[in-house]
Parts: sequence; structure tokens; C-alpha cells
Amino acid sequence: MSMLSAIVRFENLHELRRLCHWGPIIALSVVGVCSTVAILDSIIWFWPLDSTGGSVNFIMLINWTVLILYNYFNAMFVGPGYIPLGWKPENPQDTLYLQFCRVCRGYKAPRSHHCRKCNRCVMKMDHHCPWINNCCGHLNHAYFTSFLLLAPLGCIHAAFIFVMTMYTQLYDRISFGWSSVKIDMSAIRRSHHPIMPFSISAFAATLFALGLALGTTIAVGMLFFIQMKVILRNKTSIEVWIEEKARDRIQYYQTGEEFIFPYDLGGRWENFKQVFTWSGVPEGDGIEWPVHEKCHQHTLTIEQLKQKADKRVRSVQYRVIEDYNGACCPVGKGFRTFIRTPCTEEPRIPLTRGETIFATRGTKWWMYGDKVLEEEQTQAGGRIRGWFPRRCVEKCLYDSANSPPADGAKKDN
Ligand SMILES: [Zn+2]
Ligand SMILES: [Zn+2]
Repeated sequence: MSMLSAIVRFENLHELRRLCHWGPIIALSVVGVCSTVAILDSIIWFWPLDSTGGSVNFIMLINWTVLILYNYFNAMFVGPGYIPLGWKPENPQDTLYLQFCRVCRGYKAPRSHHCRKCNRCVMKMDHHCPWINNCCGHLNHAYFTSFLLLAPLGCIHAAFIFVMTMYTQLYDRISFGWSSVKIDMSAIRRSHHPIMPFSISAFAATLFALGLALGTTIAVGMLFFIQMKVILRNKTSIEVWIEEKARDRIQYYQTGEEFIFPYDLGGRWENFKQVFTWSGVPEGDGIEWPVHEKCHQHTLTIEQLKQKADKRVRSVQYRVIEDYNGACCPVGKGFRTFIRTPCTEEPRIPLTRGETIFATRGTKWWMYGDKVLEEEQTQAGGRIRGWFPRRCVEKCLYDSANSPPADGAKKDN
């Protein structure tokens, strides 16, 4: 019984509602189609179970499916971990160094951020992932990243099965003419007699699954490398942006400060062990974190407060240099922009050359920010905020940024 309750966490059963969303429906369909077709192709046509290789292949396929689903469901149902509602630091003095969340009516613990989708402050928030319909953060960072590794590995194995099945089944039946390819599905193959002939629908299913497997390998594989890069420095995607802004702020004010990212423990292995443990539960309580010797618990939160105050004074201002139509995966903005579109349901905003944007965060290829609107639009409470390709804008030098930020605050020199 204790074994069972260790596997199935009954207290998380209400979380099953997370499955009713396009993200999990699509993700699980892809896993389902690829696994089912790979297993059927193997045992019926390519590698029947009557040989040792065939059995090993079959067990490996089952293993991939189980491991992928295990990490996927854990990422979804364990969740990122939330800061308790109304949370206060033990030492009342520390509230000076923390931001307050009006929705959760509590202070935001170091590394936590409020997620608008989850409507809670999330421990060590990385991003809200629509594919697991949950946030990726402290408690599920390892499960999420393991899924990102296992899914492409399983897909590569499946893709190999698909290609080999089609190759061996069509080898005798395919003939090439000058301008045509002829597949004679009625031709009988002599080598061995499968329980079922390789029909045109089996061929179509295999080809379709191959497309899904290759697409998943590329897209998810790239997400894995992005996550690992961040994890090996013990950062989150949000903190990468905070660090960039810190450097920007220090350079602008020439304060001579040195910003050391406090959670990078120095070694990649040290950082790796913070997230990945044998038990699956990451190190730490999600509130207090081990920090670099020159830093303290509030190094990052103080920097965030400085940035927040500074944001009122100046925003990172960008000028639009290239039109953009607002498409999620825009054509003609470069391959990387196309495939690295942010995995979020947040809107994309169309851009016209000459417009000004106040950016608040971004990735290497995309940025998120507020468009500077006409006076009357701003007064009417209008706000255009969303993602756009980084290559469509260029950073304005602060000296030339003479118009005030969107919230109307004046530049304070
Ligand atoms: Zn909150
Ligand atoms: Zn969320």
C-alpha cells in the first residue's frame, strides 16, 4: 500500500484537471502515436519478438514510454511548488529586501515569481509551460528536464524503427521510373511472412509517426540544451534576464558595483546536484538557498528591487527596425526565430518600423515588452504588450531615449 501511495499521490488527484488543455492533449497524443506505431512496427514487421534482438528492442521501447510518461506526469502533477499564501520572512527586517505580491498577499521569497496562469507565487520559477499546463520551477525542474532529454532519445529510437520498417517492407515493392515512383503493395515478400501484410495504412501511419518523432527530437532536444545550460549555472530563464538587466543597470549608472549571481555555486557538478538528486526531490526548501560566499540571501531580491525602482526611471528602450506581422512562427525572420518561438500563450505583437518598445524580458531570439502608444491611446488605458522577434528591434542608447517610459514617469538625471 505504501508502495502504491508512493507512486500515486492521491492528494494530487484534483490536479487531473490539468490534463484538459491543448498542451497535454497534444503532447500525450504525440507520445501515444509514436510509442504505439513503433511497438507495432517492431513486433509485426521489422523486429519480431522471436529473436533476442527483437525482445531487447521491444523492452527498450516500453522503457522509453514508461520513463517519458513518468517524468512528464511528475512534472505536471508534482508541480513547481508554491510559496505559502501570506508568506512572511522569519526576520521582519527582511521584508525591506523583498517584493510584496498583492494577489498572494505575502512576500515573494527569493527566486520566486508570481505566475499569472497559476495565480500563485511559484518557487524558483523558470517559466509557465503550456505543454505540461503547469509552471516549471523548484520541485519539478528535474522531472521537466529529464522529460526533455528522454523524449528526443525515445523519438530517435522510434524514428530508427520507422525508417527500417519502411525500408525493409518497401524494398522489394518499390520501383523508380523516370518521373514516377511506383509502390506495389500487393507484391509478396519472400523473406519472412508477417502475421499481417504491410498495408498502405500501416505505411501512412509509420510515415506520419516518423514526422512526429523527428519534429519532437529537434524541438524538444533544443529545449533540453537550453535548460541544461541554465541549470549548470544554477539559474532560471527569468534569472538570466535579471542578470542581464543588472549588468545593464550598473553600466548605465557607472556605480562600480560588481553583480555576482548569488546561486551559482561555482562548479557545474555542484549546480547540477542542486536540481538533480536520486530521490527526485531537489535540494532546499524552495525559500532559502545556498549562495556564493560573497553574497547573502537577499543579493538577488535587492537587485530586483533596484531594477524595479530603476524601471520607473528608465526602461530598456528598443526601436523597431523591421516590420513584424505578429505571427507565432514568423517566416523570413531567420530559422532560429522561427523555431525558438517562446513556448507560451502570451500574445505576439505586430511591429511597424519606427515604433518604440519598452522591453522587460526576453530570450536570445525573442523579447517581451510594451509598445509606446500615442498619448490618447495611453489615456484611454490602452496597452499593447507581448512578444516580438529580437532581430526586429535595436537597443536605443539611453542618451537618445528622450521620450518618457510608458507609465509616464520622467527620466531622472
Ligand atoms: Zn503571488
Ligand atoms: Zn504557472
